[in-house]
Amino acid sequence: MTTQPAQTVSDGELFIDGKWVPSASGATVDIVNPATETAICKVAWGDASDLDRAVQAARRAFDQGPWPTLPAKERARIMFRIADGIEAAGEELALRETLDVGKPISFTRGFDVRAAAEIFRYYAGMVEMLEGAARPAGARSLQYIRREPLGVVGAITPFNFPLNLAVNKIAPALAAGNTIVHKPADQTPLTALKLAEIMAEAGLPEGVHNVVLGDGATVGSALVEHPGVDKISFTGSTATGKRLIAAASATLKKVTVELGGKGANIVFADADLDAAAQAAFQAGFFNTGQFCMSGSRLLVHRSVHDELVAKLTAILDVIPVGDPLAEATVLGPLAHRAQLDKVLEYVAIGTAEGATLAYGGEPGHEGPGFYHRPVVFTGATADMRIAQEEIFGPVLTVIPFDTDDEAVEIANGTPYGLAAGLHTRDLKRAHNVAGRLEAGIVWVNTWAAFENSTSFGGYKASGFGRELGPEGIEEYLQYKTIYVNVD
Ligand code: NAP
Repeated sequence: MTTQPAQTVSDGELFIDGKWVPSASGATVDIVNPATETAICKVAWGDASDLDRAVQAARRAFDQGPWPTLPAKERARIMFRIADGIEAAGEELALRETLDVGKPISFTRGFDVRAAAEIFRYYAGMVEMLEGAARPAGARSLQYIRREPLGVVGAITPFNFPLNLAVNKIAPALAAGNTIVHKPADQTPLTALKLAEIMAEAGLPEGVHNVVLGDGATVGSALVEHPGVDKISFTGSTATGKRLIAAASATLKKVTVELGGKGANIVFADADLDAAAQAAFQAGFFNTGQFCMSGSRLLVHRSVHDELVAKLTAILDVIPVGDPLAEATVLGPLAHRAQLDKVLEYVAIGTAEGATLAYGGEPGHEGPGFYHRPVVFTGATADMRIAQEEIFGPVLTVIPFDTDDEAVEIANGTPYGLAAGLHTRDLKRAHNVAGRLEAGIVWVNTWAAFENSTSFGGYKASGFGRELGPEGIEEYLQYKTIYVNVD
């Protein structure tokens, strides 16, 4: 692997009420580069008192305005400026995301930053389209519906797509007129801080957007329990999501939860196997497998099983794994040590369960960095832990099937229901099977294709609520009926 050039990111503070502030306790933590295991910078480390200040600021900014009552075109104008600001700061944002998460720089530039700007533009364009409705009423009555913001939104995001998953919440919440307190994942807060700077420079009024860093058990919990917060928009694991839903019930907060996944990617015998192998690579290993919508279960018709596995492993043989700052790198390290430990643990579990290591099985890396090369298990059965549990790393479990019904049964046979996919040349089969899969998004002859209008979210234990698309903004609006007697 090549050596990384020195890269610097300035130390960070909390962003509360339009100002950069240290934490009340003065605590800071080092943010670690997963490719080198060295500190990138220090950031202020908040606690419940910092969170409370941020909620009070967001509360004032909502209750006293002007954000929720700003003319729609003014709100839109600021959001378009934020999109421009993201693009102008694109290189710095991409570098921060790469240093922080270990994602290849070509990807943070080409996807994370580009998509963040586009999502702001998408929802900025929607601000002036948030129409209400008139409903039939008596001849001397008037009945109409307004769509109103919810108030203060608490956004809690995970470590794997820090910028994008934050923007998926912040852009529609702002477009709808809400104010925000954001708690990013503790390992990966660097783009959230830069985004706050960009948003303030674009003219977002003080207090509308606040960022409090700190761990989930203190700052995250305090946000979920705070009586001044109206809604929690959470993306993270199913285990944390369950705890969070219970905690939010005490204050009857509205909650949306985008949770874990164990997607099934089905390859039928009539598929284009070269294209299916490419898609299986994307599905299994994109972002080093740290992708909620990964197709970490590859279901292959028995008649093409060996041929498809051979095509997939041939791709893995030539995929550049290594320094995420190198332009050619396709797979970087895992984002933090606990993820690497989890991968090592599941490789041992799969082996002990009797699955066959068809590819990889060792980290394949000497020296610092949380690297693990791709792993493919074959000979797996649908009930094995490697076929049921979310690993969130570069470990793909291949399961053979004989009939369409069996493929659907295996695909639907986990608690999760986030993403699924299928590969076939038969349109009738594609349509029928897609309709039977229990997943919030189904890809046919592709994987992870996205537009800003592509809404996604979970079935079953993968959560509820939708992000992106017109559905995404509905999560931040409530409806008010006004019935007027004009007699
Ligand atoms: P996680 O451990 O559940 O953490 C997610 C966020 O919740 C972090 O900011 C975390 O803070 C915070 N948190 C932890 N405990 C909390 C509590 N008691 N109350 C409030 N907040 C709390 O998830 P992760 O490991 O970061 O992310 C990986 C998971 O996210 C995977 O399961 C993946 O599938 C899922 N994911 C889902 C989607 C989707 O759209 N469905 C997208 C991406 C990822 P700390 O970082 O400080 O612990």
